[in-house]
Amino acid sequence: MPNREMLLIPGPTPVLDEIYEALSSETYAHTDPRVVKVTLESLEMTRQMFNTDGEVFIVAGSGTLAMEMAIVNTVAPGEKILVLTHGFFGDRFIKLAESFGIAVDSIASPWGQRVDPREVAAKLAGSTYKAVTVTHVDTSTGVQADLDTLVPLVKQHNALFILDGVCATAAAVEDMQHDYGHGAKIDVVLTGSQKAIGVPPGLAIIAFGPQALAARAELKRIPAYYADINNWLPIMKDPSKYFATPAVNMLYAYHRAMQLVLAEGLENRYARHQKLGRAVRAALATYGLVPLAAETVAAPTLTCMQYPEGIVDLEFRKFLAARGVVLAGALASLAGKAFRIGHMGNVTTETLKQAIGLIGEALAAQGRTVDVAAAQAKFSALV
Ligand SMILES: *Cc1c(COP(=O)(O)O)cnc(C)c1O
Repeated sequence: MPNREMLLIPGPTPVLDEIYEALSSETYAHTDPRVVKVTLESLEMTRQMFNTDGEVFIVAGSGTLAMEMAIVNTVAPGEKILVLTHGFFGDRFIKLAESFGIAVDSIASPWGQRVDPREVAAKLAGSTYKAVTVTHVDTSTGVQADLDTLVPLVKQHNALFILDGVCATAAAVEDMQHDYGHGAKIDVVLTGSQKAIGVPPGLAIIAFGPQALAARAELKRIPAYYADINNWLPIMKDPSKYFATPAVNMLYAYHRAMQLVLAEGLENRYARHQKLGRAVRAALATYGLVPLAAETVAAPTLTCMQYPEGIVDLEFRKFLAARGVVLAGALASLAGKAFRIGHMGNVTTETLKQAIGLIGEALAAQGRTVDVAAAQAKFSALV
């Protein structure tokens, strides 16, 4: 029986029965016209979601593969990038790029805050970068990047703007033809299937705008094979051709999930996530938990909540796991001091309300005085 657990980690997220049903449909040949149709429609729906006039790729792999594809297809070894990081996943771009001999400068914010745009402006003025990476929502901190400020800043200097959308896509605006001012646009958006799209883990999804495609063309040979978009381009145009066997059943699931995303409507889905984020944070704050990110920079998809004095993280999460609520621990220096809760994808308000109640009970079990009914009422009033 699927969905017995309240899987509230920041991905994978709860998977709807109808998506599981699609996933378990009969596996046809990857070149079968029925699979070709599902693939082409999936690509089209993805193109719509990102509103791109470039090319979209869906390949078997996790979000990290999509990060790698973004970098190796646009930046050559020896060239330099600027990594803007507000957490663990932003930092991942540093090691990733270095693995390919790419030079890296980075600007890191204190955890829970955004990077300072003045620092970014100074860095961009002082050096030449082929690309700048930005993590839309960093899953370690629950901070959302300010695209309205960063996109124009980066594009002024003609660097490619690469956006890691793994924890934001389908929950926050990622419009690749949106003009952020003087023609500034996002060049690459990458994501994975298992977060706000609501599919099990297994697909890397990435969109390249015209300038990013031109960068790939200029590079000629790159130090990648499976991750080389030139090997995938013919397949995405005609999925009856073969390069490497696609994850047929994952494509069924993704296709169904994307139909649901577009049926809900992108604007509705973004608004729903905004509301969910605010409501979860407000409800949990009544227990004396403190969000790591201020409301002005907080993500719509997940929240990192800091414990009050005296709460033991492992016991707290064990108590909840025994009652079917799975939360994530915090990372790095926050480990033991906070937990992370996802509120994205196809999670229902009913599930979140129940989880908020159980979180109250878990805190009470460690001696904290809480008003569960008041917390749940706060949540319900805001969603
Ligand atoms: C989860 C996540 C990743 C990594 O994705 P995997 O599917 O685990 O490889 C990268 N970036 C962000 C922002 C994420 O949330």
